[in-house]
Amino acid sequence: MENRLKEFKTLTDTLYAKNHLLGVMIFDGETIAPIASADARSKSMSVINEEIFKLLTSPSSQELINYLYEKRSSLDEITQRELTLIKRSLKLLKNMPMNEYVEYQSLLNKAQVVWSQAKKANDYEMFKPYLEKIIEYNKKIAAYYAPEKEPYDALLEMYEYGMSMADYDPFFDEMQKQIVPTLKEISNKPLPEYKFLSMPFSIEKQKILSDRIMDLMGLDRTCCSITESEHPFTTGFNKWDLRITTHYYENMFESSLYSVIHEGGHAMYEMGIDDKYQFTNIAGGASLGMHESQSRFYENIIGRSKAFMSLLHPIICDIFPEQMKGVSEETLYKALNLVHPSLIRIEADELSYSLHILIRYEIEKMLISGELNVDEAPKYWNKLYKDYLGVDVPDYRSGILQDIHWAGGSIGYFPTYALGSAYGAQMLAKMNESFDINKDITENKIQNIHKWLNKNIHVHGSMYDPKKIISMACKEEFNPQYYFDYLNNKFKDIYEI
Ligand code: ZN
Repeated sequence: MENRLKEFKTLTDTLYAKNHLLGVMIFDGETIAPIASADARSKSMSVINEEIFKLLTSPSSQELINYLYEKRSSLDEITQRELTLIKRSLKLLKNMPMNEYVEYQSLLNKAQVVWSQAKKANDYEMFKPYLEKIIEYNKKIAAYYAPEKEPYDALLEMYEYGMSMADYDPFFDEMQKQIVPTLKEISNKPLPEYKFLSMPFSIEKQKILSDRIMDLMGLDRTCCSITESEHPFTTGFNKWDLRITTHYYENMFESSLYSVIHEGGHAMYEMGIDDKYQFTNIAGGASLGMHESQSRFYENIIGRSKAFMSLLHPIICDIFPEQMKGVSEETLYKALNLVHPSLIRIEADELSYSLHILIRYEIEKMLISGELNVDEAPKYWNKLYKDYLGVDVPDYRSGILQDIHWAGGSIGYFPTYALGSAYGAQMLAKMNESFDINKDITENKIQNIHKWLNKNIHVHGSMYDPKKIISMACKEEFNPQYYFDYLNNKFKDIYEI
């Protein structure tokens, strides 16, 4: 057994190292690498990807993993969990023929290029055949992954273990019933104007703001760096090497401000994972939804709260005295919580954000079940935007072609964004039972919130499934009602309805 465990350690260390290398290459490509480097990088990356695939699926690795998995009850808890997670990640790979896997990867590579051109040209017809093929492939993938499940259920589980339509259907139904009417009421009121938001904020000074915000959050800069990219993201290789990115816009300073807080929340999660899980597949957030719960907790629940304005307002006034002339804490709060139903998901406010996800959930579900085909999809997309957000979609670019997810093969991913927000609201309710979080924020004791999240969420990494982490942290099952109440209370108060 001793020797077999050593072999397993060599296997997991090799996988870690190869993924580390891939991660650095992706980060490099998204940040400082020159544009012309893309082809060569993609060539090297496909070699490494193939090595990973072969290493994981080789008969000797399979034999080793199966041998240890059968004997798992005699192994320590960490190895047991590592084996469970590796078995799960193999569920698709070992059933999918290598040639189909390679063909699918090359379809996705092409689809992303075509999507980007189609979006620019506002030409849905150009992307449609790719979308159709991706949907067909995803149905096959679902059958390889979990033939016993409904295809969309299988896909949902690949992005959020333990979640299915049986969980998401009531969640999104209630969201529609409880959030759409509030949004309509707010939309009927005249849209307030906050001129200072569109004033120029120098990018050099915005960089100073990023540093001050990271300090305020308590992000350890020896383990977390910040740089710029087209779209903000976080990547991490272990708890001592986290990298967040942002994008500065001179006339939209709040965009980078909240990107830094959001990505900082992702980094906080990874930095808080127990040392004993590092370099295993347990290091890393429990799921996409759990990760979003942390980034959105910092971004929205803390970062857009009234209490946080007492910390944020003096910092912004200090760095941008001209632009902030006459802007009170109250005005800043209202401006940063402006509700404005829009066409674009990534520009959405906190209240309407999840409705963009609801629309994608309904469409994905119907595309996979066959109730909707790719010809009718844009019309249905536009109809749902009118029904839920009250907006008319003028073109494909700001409609069905806006997100890269489907072009990248990710069907079933979107719902995790809304789920993360709902997880966060439930954590907030639980936290407020043991201390007053608004009071702590006002008194600059954000560390107390961080400690709660660390102890109840971060430290576990992927040691438990997301549903279990929620029930351990909140002492009850996942309940999205906290989220709807949180949104309704907050925005009905701001808009006095
Ligand atoms: Zn995120």
